[in-house]
Amino acid sequence: MFSALTHLECARTGERYAADEIQGTSAVGAPLLARYDLQRVAATVTREEIASRAATLWRYHELLPVRSVQRVVSLGEGMTPLVALPRFGSRIGVPGLLMKDEGLIPTGTFKARGAAVGVSRAAELGVAGVAMPTNGNAGAAWALYAARAGIRSLIMMPVDAPRITRAECWISGAELYLVDGLIGDAGKLIAASVADRAGYQDVSTLKEPYRLEGKKTMAYELVEQLDWRTPDVIVYPTGGGVGIIGIYKALGELRELGWIHGELPRLIAVQATGCAPIVKAFQCGAAESEPFPDARTVAFGINVPKALGDFLVLNAVYETGGTAVAVTDGALLDALGELARTEGAFVCPEGAACFAAVAQLREAGWLTGAEQVVVLNTGTGMKYPDTVPMNVPVLAKDGRIPSE
Ligand SMILES: *Cc1c(COP(=O)(O)O)cnc(C)c1O
Repeated sequence: MFSALTHLECARTGERYAADEIQGTSAVGAPLLARYDLQRVAATVTREEIASRAATLWRYHELLPVRSVQRVVSLGEGMTPLVALPRFGSRIGVPGLLMKDEGLIPTGTFKARGAAVGVSRAAELGVAGVAMPTNGNAGAAWALYAARAGIRSLIMMPVDAPRITRAECWISGAELYLVDGLIGDAGKLIAASVADRAGYQDVSTLKEPYRLEGKKTMAYELVEQLDWRTPDVIVYPTGGGVGIIGIYKALGELRELGWIHGELPRLIAVQATGCAPIVKAFQCGAAESEPFPDARTVAFGINVPKALGDFLVLNAVYETGGTAVAVTDGALLDALGELARTEGAFVCPEGAACFAAVAQLREAGWLTGAEQVVVLNTGTGMKYPDTVPMNVPVLAKDGRIPSE
């Protein structure tokens, strides 16, 4: 058994859907969640066996939706390092701080996970082209994995999305469009065009079930890397929310499998003050968010004013006793520099937002400093060269380096 996938389930109503045909959202427009025969997995696979497999996210293939090993489209993604950050951690009063570094993955962001699994499954089900609106990183990853799979991709991103992601789409042969607007505007244009293109699927965030399945593997890996123990707190930069929803789903699956025990880690959704719909909803105790007006932040990957899966993000935060916090662009850029100077880690602005949030939560007393805290650094800083303001002296060929 390569995959124990049994069916899909509406995230709002629980209604069942067949897994082996192309599916979008449910009848009520909600995301579909993949369900597995976990009893069968528990009876046939052990944690030790998983540990002996190749170091990619496909080591959890029973818990992934791709039916046939031949249909796996991979560039070697997964098993990113879990790194201790003792210096930065001590400085902010959380010495047990760890970073799972998703910068070290094909395409340089964790979007590769969703793309690897999503594209593999789409191609397995006969999809000829994937279409999506993106803030950049997801489009880049899906374009490259689609090329690897030999299917087409139609990508649309805001004109001010990070330029490197535009290049990644372009070089991989994607049909690429820029829109003078936000990701939501791109989403409308994509939906309209997919309607009259045979063989294309709209793979917008949570409008197909399998991107989530790829992203959830961050939690499997993290737990495996901690010897099948869970940390106290997991901190995640939240845009569309797929990552944090996936982490919560994966932790639930691991508990049902009997591979972890006890309380789940508290999950923290981090946003930028310039785009904080989930934080605002959390502060009101609401089950869903309102569209955030005039959304703007340098952390482009989390610039999502209204997420389809907002209720799932909020549920994950409430159910684990976590919280949702917003940090300013100034605070996240400070953290970005501090991380590089104290730990040699060049993180992405979204990851930096999480580090700023940990410092903020420690200061506020929400964290005592005794916790083991894992931050997901969702990408490499190298994808965002423009976030580093520089003032580097240029010397003439016969000039002199000033003495210290
Ligand atoms: C997309 C993205 C996020 C947000 O992830 P979601 O799963 O959509 O919440 C965070 N960081 C980076 C670098 C991203 O590209």
